[in-house]
Amino acid sequence: MRENSCSPVPARRARLGAIGTLLVVVVVVAVAALGCGATDTGSGGLRGLRSAAGPAGGGDGGPFDSHRPTVRRLDPDLLDAIRRAARDAHRDGVPLVLNSGWRSRAHQQRLLDEAVTRYGGVEEARRWVATPDTSAHVTGDAVDIGPTEGAEWLGEHGAAYGLCQIFANESWHFELATTPGGECPDLLPDSSSRS
Ligand SMILES: [Zn+2]
Repeated sequence: MRENSCSPVPARRARLGAIGTLLVVVVVVAVAALGCGATDTGSGGLRGLRSAAGPAGGGDGGPFDSHRPTVRRLDPDLLDAIRRAARDAHRDGVPLVLNSGWRSRAHQQRLLDEAVTRYGGVEEARRWVATPDTSAHVTGDAVDIGPTEGAEWLGEHGAAYGLCQIFANESWHFELATTPGGECPDLLPDSSSRS
């Protein structure tokens, strides 16, 4: 039997114990090394990655990566404007990312259905989520911007790029609604105002 050809059990245990200890040491050293790496270069490295990828890059995996359908299917002028705005916001030290861009009709309907459940009725839901027929996201003409400081930055500077907040209750939703440097139209109360 194989078992009999092996070393006596106590010796094996001892060896296994030694190997186990060695493994623990290796793991601890590896974790420590990773920890050091993160401490030494982590934030700088991340910052480097962020600026290399840019907040407004092209096909780089960033938030405005045109490989994503939500980005690729946006109106090219809108995409160009939001990319330039994101770049300038980033220069001001303000993060500006795309939370939502183009949406399929099915996706929009799903969002509306969810909102109906959440708000307990179609009427209230429509104040927050447009129908597939009225949503500017479905036509690629709207973007939802985050985080809050990014949306605030765009609310302040968006008109320089032709980007305007449209609905009074959605400070994150922007559309190309004026000529660059022009004046934005008056806010609509909410998305149900547009039908
Ligand atoms: Zn929106």
